[in-house]
Amino acid sequence: MARHLFINGIDVQANDYYELYNPFDGSLIDTVARASREEMLAAIEAADHAFQTMKAIPAHKRADILYRAAQILEERAEEVARVIAIEAGKPIRAARTEVSRSVQTLRFSAEGAKSMYGESIPMDAARGGENRLGFTVFEPIGVVAAITPFNFPLNLVVHKVGPAIAVGNTVVLKPAEQTPLSSYLLASIFQQAGLPDGALNVVSGDGPVLGPVVTQDDRIKKVSFTGSPEVGKLIRSQSGLKKITLELGSNSALIVDRHCDLARCVERAVEGAFAYAGQVCIHTQRIYVHEGIYDSFVTAFREKMDQLKIGDPLDESTDISAVINERSRQRILAWIEEARQLGATVYGGRTDGNVISPTLVLNADPQSKLVCQEVFGPVVVIDRVESMEEAVQKTNRSRYGLNAGIFTQDLTTAFQAARQLHVGQVLINEIPTFRLDHMPYGGVKDSGVGREGVKYAMQEMSETKLIVVTL
Ligand code: NAD
Repeated sequence: MARHLFINGIDVQANDYYELYNPFDGSLIDTVARASREEMLAAIEAADHAFQTMKAIPAHKRADILYRAAQILEERAEEVARVIAIEAGKPIRAARTEVSRSVQTLRFSAEGAKSMYGESIPMDAARGGENRLGFTVFEPIGVVAAITPFNFPLNLVVHKVGPAIAVGNTVVLKPAEQTPLSSYLLASIFQQAGLPDGALNVVSGDGPVLGPVVTQDDRIKKVSFTGSPEVGKLIRSQSGLKKITLELGSNSALIVDRHCDLARCVERAVEGAFAYAGQVCIHTQRIYVHEGIYDSFVTAFREKMDQLKIGDPLDESTDISAVINERSRQRILAWIEEARQLGATVYGGRTDGNVISPTLVLNADPQSKLVCQEVFGPVVVIDRVESMEEAVQKTNRSRYGLNAGIFTQDLTTAFQAARQLHVGQVLINEIPTFRLDHMPYGGVKDSGVGREGVKYAMQEMSETKLIVVTL
């Protein structure tokens, strides 16, 4: 029982391995390859070599590979969902949803492969442009380095691998230390689907060791990173002129107007606050509620939150399970304690092993970490506001800007907020914790650079070439 590296279409024994433990019960899951610098270089070499093959494959065949991979993943959905549940501590129902979304992301990628259009340029709009025909084409760029986080170990990997293959690139994938197994499974599915050897290589191991190898290698043409802002900034500083996409964290806010569908809003807010124990980049972390309905919102929220079931990720009825590791648990508890010391009222926050029960924080000091930083845990802060302007100002008072949501029945309020919120995506009558896999998706400020969502990732993984014909 050991998970080897996957390089150039074969399982390659590594020099070193680490033990992977279940975040919920601490049991040993597997031993996994911890790649060295040299092993990463071998993967880059394989991907660089395979690019010659990949770029010659026509779009309809790349689409066929992606469609087949989607089909195989769909057939193996339950097996893959269990792997996600075990390595990530993700409740099984949520793990199944992730697999089903990944199938869709692959199908969007297949469709994208066939519908990547350039544009024709009206050359004669400029003096001297007469009798010339100009048009753009998209070309693959070469080897993409994909570095991914633990929280959606399959779908966020597919969001990089799918578009890369759709445009004809090859990939070196460095999955998160805690969740490499879904990536290795995905690679075997792609192999079964007919992807050429070397087009997708999986290299598990330590980020700080392997990151600099990819950022400093000239054969890597693009770094696509999803993870924390601290690592994102480091990668950017190391990447020189490589293309780069950074999908980073946030402390997303939901704004609740006095006139809205309160029952639906509360139901969605509880989902946004506690899904996958808050370990979601668009986790609903801050909720700004109009004072006219604040009390009834909090009462209804507490009622719903108390109904969530805590337990084993493999149990069908579990809503909330362990956070990813002991370090994360301790940090989240320390932040809750800091808020309490600064005068907040805290409901929940009990622990059992790595599980933290759903936690609601009222009257939090605006300087407390639970308000200003990304908690990445099952904690939500609810705050009372006098107006929607105040709610928008408070939402924008953040170093992050990924998603924001607003519930209101007033169209003017909705649109004013939508234009004033400094974020990548605004969801009207929806929580910020909402994403479909073809939506353009990415942040401003410390939440990142660039956009994913299949079509947008494909654009960022290609070069636009202009061709001009003088007639
Ligand atoms: P992380 O930054 O700790 O790790 C992400 C990846 O980076 C891992 O594969 C890790 O091994 C690697 N890494 C670590 N140090 C590195 C280095 N020096 N050089 C190169 N790679 C390195 O993040 P995490 O804890 O796995 O995930 C949580 C974070 O990801 C949160 O901040 C969350 O908001 C963010 N996230 C963002 C999105 C999004 O789409 N915006 C989606 C999911 C998660």
